[in-house]
Amino acid sequence: MKFLFFNGHNLYVKDKDIPKLRNGEVLIRIRMAGICKTDLEIVKGYMKFTGVLGHEFVGEVVEGDNTSWIGKRVVGEINCPCYNCAFCFAGRSRHCPNRTVLGIYEREGVFAEYTTLPERNLYIVPDNMPDEVAVFTEPVAAGYRILEQVHFSPNDCVVVLGDGRMGQLISQIVSPHVRKLVCVGKYPHKLSHLQKLGIETCLLSQWKGKNIDVVIDATGNPEAQSLALEMLKPKGTLVIKSTTEELNPINLSKVVVDEIHIIGSRCGPFEPAIKGLAEKKVKVGYMISHVFDFEDIIKAFEVAQGKDCLKVLIDFRNK
Ligand SMILES: [Zn+2]
Ligand SMILES: [Zn+2]
Repeated sequence: MKFLFFNGHNLYVKDKDIPKLRNGEVLIRIRMAGICKTDLEIVKGYMKFTGVLGHEFVGEVVEGDNTSWIGKRVVGEINCPCYNCAFCFAGRSRHCPNRTVLGIYEREGVFAEYTTLPERNLYIVPDNMPDEVAVFTEPVAAGYRILEQVHFSPNDCVVVLGDGRMGQLISQIVSPHVRKLVCVGKYPHKLSHLQKLGIETCLLSQWKGKNIDVVIDATGNPEAQSLALEMLKPKGTLVIKSTTEELNPINLSKVVVDEIHIIGSRCGPFEPAIKGLAEKKVKVGYMISHVFDFEDIIKAFEVAQGKDCLKVLIDFRNK
């Protein structure tokens, strides 16, 4: 099979055998995959990962001990826990210290014709949901994670910092739950998409608001966390979604004096994500900037770095 290999410095398209299945795993033929900010950070050195990148996908099960999966179109949770440690027994398997993570940590990812995942990670995609929508399930789930972590009050005023892929999704997911939500970003054309969905936006250069109840950092830029702190009211909540290779210290004295709650937020639940996409509560079609065939994946990575770009998808279906 063909796959995209990252050797710690550069990306190459290479050929190798189809991966072997371990206990409880299925073999998935990838239909579409998405390039995520995390992939771009890994290429800069984040997680020190080498191997097959990629964790956002929709595919078809082609092999597995449990034959009932075969032929099913699926998406899958990216964390593969051990189910045999204190965290797993306590129902916190996403934090299992022995976990592997698809295309991010100790597990080959989805920028390949085939990948493997444990069968218990899989979710069936509704028949009427196009691949172009289903491929967004993982990042949409990451957005829904915030609803599990923050108990928004209907009176809350929320700022989503960042108008990129995650900022767009989070704004759509959180806005029905609060009195006021403003997405603050740098790019008028990205903000205009949200305006069309009825979501309030503001250019960062024009933002003057203070005393915000909850600020969600979805910029992917570590410097934004200091900015987010300045926006918050005392006892406010800062939710951080960005994971970056680069570090930036924030003023923890401000956190102490204002008794700020800081919540780190990573992967989320797939069921509400699939439901939100199926019911079109979360719209993603407008976010697709480019679709590349797998042969052009190196070019796709270059394009995905562009500031104007929202989502770049890789299409394996013509193979
Ligand atoms: Zn991702
Ligand atoms: Zn475990």
